[in-house]
Amino acid sequence: MSGLILENVEKHYGSACAVTDVNLHLPEGKLVCFLGPSGCGKTTLLRMIAGLETLTGGEIRLDGEDIGNTPAHLRNFGMVFQSLALFPHMTVGENIAYPLKLRGVSKAEQQTRVVELLELIQLQQMIDRPVAKLSGGQRQRVAIARAIANHPKILLLDEPLSALDAKLRESMQVEIRQLQQRLNITTIMVTHDQREAMTMADIVVVLGEHRVQQVGTPIEIYRHPANEFVADFIGSGNIFPATALGNGKVSLPGGDALQVPICSSILVGEKVKMLIRPEDLQLSAPQATAGNRLLGKVTFVRDIGATIETTVECSGVSFTALSTPCQGIGLSIGHPVSVTLPVEACRVLGA
Ligand code: ATP
Repeated sequence: MSGLILENVEKHYGSACAVTDVNLHLPEGKLVCFLGPSGCGKTTLLRMIAGLETLTGGEIRLDGEDIGNTPAHLRNFGMVFQSLALFPHMTVGENIAYPLKLRGVSKAEQQTRVVELLELIQLQQMIDRPVAKLSGGQRQRVAIARAIANHPKILLLDEPLSALDAKLRESMQVEIRQLQQRLNITTIMVTHDQREAMTMADIVVVLGEHRVQQVGTPIEIYRHPANEFVADFIGSGNIFPATALGNGKVSLPGGDALQVPICSSILVGEKVKMLIRPEDLQLSAPQATAGNRLLGKVTFVRDIGATIETTVECSGVSFTALSTPCQGIGLSIGHPVSVTLPVEACRVLGA
């Protein structure tokens, strides 16, 4: 099978587990994000793929070939680290040419490739500038150009944008994504920023507690989180307890019943965790309780211009709803309000 395959990959440091039970198929030409909280094993996994860390179990195959014992420099993978690791005393051109020089590429070919790459990253005028005199975003582009100079099979990025301020980071996310699509290069990026993963990735691998929690497109992961960990880590959500009543109904802590999508594996009386995203909750003027429309009371309002977050206490649960000013709800603390939880927006979360 083509692409990169990880089978039962694990890494232990002595008795401590860094990552375990990783089974992934990363198809060619896609941008895959390893996303998860600090310490869950993202970097370790990336470094094992790069050949910078040995595996304590499992196998890594590229286009059918076991590469577990192939030294890093023979894998022909490009890598950009968080620190970028550019040579500050060298010019932009020298930095980009460096990996070509190591490979014994002729001076003339180095020159051609450097010019080509500078055009790609739109820094044509800066070939002779020392990297120390570049802006953060420009340095970022040089690091990427250097990583792809040798036409690597895979590009590995370890939190490459974490040192940039929020605005530059957002524009670099788009820039890297466009470059990756233009080159059609298989790319794996480590990030702990879920917004970054959602913006850039074709496939998101959510890691937590040293193992893969879910693999899917950004929208699958957002809309159909596999469990409470993923639901909580991706986006903001209302996660609340409920008790299964049967026939696709659950009861809330305050006693109200909710119709939810039927989940056949759940037994009557079972305690479950539910999710509804803030943008799916509908607030309206108070009306009698009916179906999934419940009565509640506003406890907090946060108006941040483009959106309004309203917290509502309802049947023993504190829900946050997201609306826009043009929806004209105009609620303030203490107001009674009706809260509708559309059936299709309610998710019963797996254990
Ligand atoms: P972060 O986002 O903070 O960089 P991460 O998800 O990339 O975290 P890793 O750096 O892969 O996590 O670390 C995974 C686990 O392995 C952590 O508990 C870490 O302490 C442990 N670990 C990593 N490297 C070593 C090492 N050389 N020796 C011992 N334990 C290690």
